[in-house]
Amino acid sequence: MFMLADAPSSAFAFEPSDSPIPAAERSRQLANPGFGRVFTDHMALIRFSRDKGWHDARITARRPLQMEAASSVLHYAQEIFEGMKAYSRPDGGVSLFRPDANARRFNQSARRMAMPDLPEELFLESIRALVRSEKDWIPDGDEGALYLRPFMFSSEVFLGVKPADEYLYAVIASSVGPYFRGEAPAISLWVTRDYIRAAPGGTGAAKCGGNYAASLVAQAEAIRNGCDQVVFLDAIERRWIEELGGMNIFFVFDDGSLQTPPLGGTILAGITRDSIIRLARDMGVTVREEPYSIEQWQADATSGRLTEAFACGTAAVVTAIGSVRGADGGFTIGGQSTGPLTQRLRNALVDIQRGRAPDPHGWVEQVA
Ligand SMILES: *Cc1c(COP(=O)(O)O)cnc(C)c1O
Repeated sequence: MFMLADAPSSAFAFEPSDSPIPAAERSRQLANPGFGRVFTDHMALIRFSRDKGWHDARITARRPLQMEAASSVLHYAQEIFEGMKAYSRPDGGVSLFRPDANARRFNQSARRMAMPDLPEELFLESIRALVRSEKDWIPDGDEGALYLRPFMFSSEVFLGVKPADEYLYAVIASSVGPYFRGEAPAISLWVTRDYIRAAPGGTGAAKCGGNYAASLVAQAEAIRNGCDQVVFLDAIERRWIEELGGMNIFFVFDDGSLQTPPLGGTILAGITRDSIIRLARDMGVTVREEPYSIEQWQADATSGRLTEAFACGTAAVVTAIGSVRGADGGFTIGGQSTGPLTQRLRNALVDIQRGRAPDPHGWVEQVA
C-alpha cells in the first residue's frame, strides 16, 4: 500500500521553480520576516488514494493548490498539521529538533481524524528534502528559523459524510523571527469562562485545524480585553488549567519546583513541553505533571508561593506570562518579566536546538 516508504530521498522528484525570488528580494524579506508571512520558493507534495497508496512525491514550485468546490475538507474539515523549525548552526550547517517526534504525532493526529498514516520515513524525508532546497531562506539572528508546516487534508470530491478516500500531504516553509513581537517582557492571558478548547473524547490531543477554528472566538475575546492569549480551562468543572490555544503552560514555585497540567486526551502533547520536562529534571528540578486550578493559581501568585509561569511551543519557544485576567478580576505573576528558571530553561533548550550546546538526548538531526 505505502509504496514510497522504502525509497526515501529518491522518492521525491525535484521540480525547481522557474521563477524563484531573486536573492536581493529574498534578503529584503529576511531582514524583518515577522511570523508566518514570508514563504519560500518550493513546497513538498505527496498524494494519497485508497487504491494507489502514497504516490507522486515531489518538491515543486510553491503555487496555489487547485481544488474542486466540493473537496471534502472545505465541508467537513478533515485536516491536520505539524509545526517544526530548521535552525542554522554555528558551523554553517542546518539542523532539525526532534523531527521524529513530529512524524509520530502527525500519525496520532491522522488516526484521530480517520486519515491514513503517512510512513514516518516519508514524513522525515519530505522535511529534509525541503530544508535542503530552501536553506538559503533561514534568517540570520538569534531568533531566526525556517518554520516548517507539514499538513494533510481530504481532497476527495464528494459531499457524503465519511472518511475521504483521497488526501493531499504538503509541506510549506516560512522564514520567521520571534512569534511575539510586542515590547512587553511577558505576555498577558485571558481566562475565558464561556468557551472551551477540548473535551474528553474530543480532538484536543490532535493537531487539527478544527481545534484552532473553535478557539478563535475566545482569542478575539482576549484581544478585546487587552490580553495576548487565552488560557483554556477544562470542559467539565471549568477550573483546571489546560493550555493556551497553541502553547502548553508551566508554573514555577518558590521551592524551585515546576508543574504542568497532565496529558489526558484534552491537551496537545507538545514536543517543547516534553523537552522542558526532561531538561528541568536534568537540572535536578522537581517536575510535577498534576492538575492546577485557576483559583489556586491566583492564590499562589498573590501569596508569592508561585514565582513564575511560562508558555511554550515551537513557534513561541518559551515565553513568560506576566498577568492573568478574567471577567471577575485578575492577578500578576512575579515581576511580570522573565523569571530566572524560565530563562535558564529557555537558554538550555535554545542552545541545544541551535547547536550551541551538547545534545545529550540525541534530539538534533543535522540535515545540511
Ligand atoms: C502545537 C501545539 C502546542 C505546542 O507543541 P510543540 O510540539 O511544543 O510545538 C501546544 N498546544 C497546542 C494546542 C498546539 O497545537
